[in-house]
Amino acid sequence: MKNSNKKQAQSLANFKIICQDAGVKCTQQRMKIYSELIQNPNHPDAETVYKKVQNQLANISLDTVYRTLWLFKDIGLITTIGPSRERTRFDPNLKPHHHFICTECGLILDFNSEQMDTLDIHESIKMIGKAGSLQVNIQGICRGCEINGKIISD
Ligand SMILES: [Zn+2]
Ligand SMILES: [Zn+2]
Repeated sequence: MKNSNKKQAQSLANFKIICQDAGVKCTQQRMKIYSELIQNPNHPDAETVYKKVQNQLANISLDTVYRTLWLFKDIGLITTIGPSRERTRFDPNLKPHHHFICTECGLILDFNSEQMDTLDIHESIKMIGKAGSLQVNIQGICRGCEINGKIISD
């Protein structure tokens, strides 16, 4: 628990630096939205973030949350997962990492793997273009869904 508090404090310090560098005001509202992101390990979408912050921030709209998240993305504070803009998931972890994606419930969790960090880029990929960073997405069924599925089928 202590460790994760320390990590959050570091992320918030990082948040202030990136905002300053980009000339973006570090408002209370933006801080809250960013805090919500770093506290949620499941890469939430805009609506999920909105539901969490709406009690804490009076008069905030879903539209504001959207625009704030995309602003974060534009200044390099977070990255996004998924092709669709409406259901884009937001990721505050800027370190190299990979994802486990549950196809049942939409859970997306980070994991690290040195082996996957250093996967060989196949020749056929070099034909398409110059490879940059590498991120592996594993699709499957998470433990929670697996257990639920078992209960239903019993
Ligand atoms: Zn699941
Ligand atoms: Zn991630």
